[in-house]
This record gives sequence, C-alpha cells and structure tokens, in this order.
Amino acid sequence: MTPLSQKTPSIAAITRGCVVKATNNNRKGRTQSITTTFSSLSKNYTMTEIELKPTELVYLKDTYVFRLEDEATVIGLRQQQDEGTNVFYEIALDKTIAYPAGGGQPSDEGKVCIHTDQNVWFHFDSVRMERETKQVWHRGSFSKDSEEMSLANVRGQKCTIEVDERIRLQHAKMHSAGHLLDVAVASIPGLETNILVPTKGSHGVKDAYVEYKGNARTLSGIEGDDEKLMKLMNENLEKLIEKNDIIKTEYLAYEDAKRACGGHLPSYISPDAEEAPRIVTVANLGCPCGGTHVKSSSELKRVTVTALRVKKGVTRISYSVDL
Ligand SMILES: [Zn+2]
Repeated sequence: MTPLSQKTPSIAAITRGCVVKATNNNRKGRTQSITTTFSSLSKNYTMTEIELKPTELVYLKDTYVFRLEDEATVIGLRQQQDEGTNVFYEIALDKTIAYPAGGGQPSDEGKVCIHTDQNVWFHFDSVRMERETKQVWHRGSFSKDSEEMSLANVRGQKCTIEVDERIRLQHAKMHSAGHLLDVAVASIPGLETNILVPTKGSHGVKDAYVEYKGNARTLSGIEGDDEKLMKLMNENLEKLIEKNDIIKTEYLAYEDAKRACGGHLPSYISPDAEEAPRIVTVANLGCPCGGTHVKSSSELKRVTVTALRVKKGVTRISYSVDL
C-alpha cells in the first residue's frame, strides 16, 4: 500500500500504492550552493550555501511522536509562488516528524517554532519530500507577528516542530486500514495476493481505496455478485479487528523481507540496496511501506468496504474507517 523507508536517518522514500521503493541515500550528505532571494516583507534576503543533506524522518520510528522539542534545525527556506499570484514559504529541516505526502497518504499539518531571539512561528499545511535531495519541505506561512523577522537568519536555527495530532492519527488509521483490507481480501480463497495483486492506493479520509491487478468478480461462487463479495470482505475485516493483531514495522534483510511479503517483493526493491527495506506486517501479511501506522488493528474500530469497481482488469475496492 504505501511509501518507503530506511533504517537510519538519511532516508528516501518514493512511494507508489502501498508499496515502497528503496533508494540509496548519501549518508555523508552533500553541500551545494543555492541562492534564493526573498523579495517580500519589504526587504530582500539572500541565502547561499544551503546544506543539501537528506532529512531524518523521525515519523518512521514512531507514529505517536507529535512534538519534537528543540531538536531540529532549519536547513532551508524558500519563497515560492503558486500558479496564481499567491506567495508561500517552504522550510526544510534536518529532521522532521511531519509525514510528506506519498504512497496515497496525505501529508501532515502542523507548526514550527523557530528559536531566534524571538520565537518565529511558521504554520504548514502540506509537506513534501524533494526527490533529488531527499529533503522534507514544509509549506505554509509565518505568523503575522513574525513578519518583520529577518528570514535570512532562520537558517541554522534550532526549532520545535509539532504535527496536528488529530490529523496524524486519522491518516495513520486510514493508511493502516488499507493494509487490513489487503489481508481481508487475500484471506478469501481465490483472491490471494498472487491472484489479486495490490498495486496502488489512496488513503485520504474522504477518498480511500486500494487497487488490485486482477478481476475480483471472476471469483468462483460469486458470479459477479458485488454485494456478496463486499460482505465477505467486511466479515473478514471485522474478524481482523476483533483479533487485535499487532501492526509490526521492521527493517529486514532482502530475503527475509521477501518471505514476509508472501515470497515476492516489488522489482524496485533491489537485493543490493544499501539499506534494508522497511516491512509492515499485519496478520502475517507483509508489505514494503514507508507510511505511518497505528499499533494494532483494534485501534481501527471499524473498517467497511463501501464500493467495488472493475475496469480494464483492475479491481478498485473503496473503504471507509470509523474515525
Ligand atoms: Zn503502510
């Protein structure tokens, strides 16, 4: 179902569906010269020599860390403009607890307090990982009280970052429910993961689904009865939640990861990769993933299959979660 991960701070995750793409990180980091000019706030500010090292992804270690006190450092600041005339800022940190959108999971929202002479508040409503540098950029705006601060001075400053706890947990639940759906589907004889193969997903609160290569309607005994098929899946989901399985996250050697994932890994995970793939396991079904998850299936309360669609040999199963 989702993104990627790595073992150590320098992590890179490119995600697709609920699957993860492992990439090599430059552990040493690197430095390039970048010049960014800030022309708002009545002054022009220029930043040079921004350090381009990957951001440490703290959320991979613990979904339930909502605040990181005075540990992260600002390593980049940009003023950007969208397709219209709206101006916004992006801040990169050397470590973050905020999940950058990817793998169908939306990003976190939150705020950063930069500890200059005064505390500068920056509110972000989206987060993204820059593919080339593996830096995480938080998009948003400075609080009005902070507008007169010298933006050029925030780089290198320590800061405190907080993510919105409610949004973080909602996203972790929606995403974890996608894993649970994989198990509920694969538990139906004839719809195992080598027959109905998970390919991608969306785990937004209002638009959640997983797509599988294969046609679920061809299942013997179902005869294209979608209601009957959805009922089977919902019964399995209910059992899985009652069973209260631990949702386990671990970094495994390639062969162990392969075994955990039913004997096959996506081709983009190389046996020669420097860093071991991060495997998330629910009810004995592993999946390479870099998303945030709840600790156990019972935290999901109720997951319901709401729709089923088959198009061009791909089955899309939509679901909802009682949040
Ligand atoms: Zn996941």
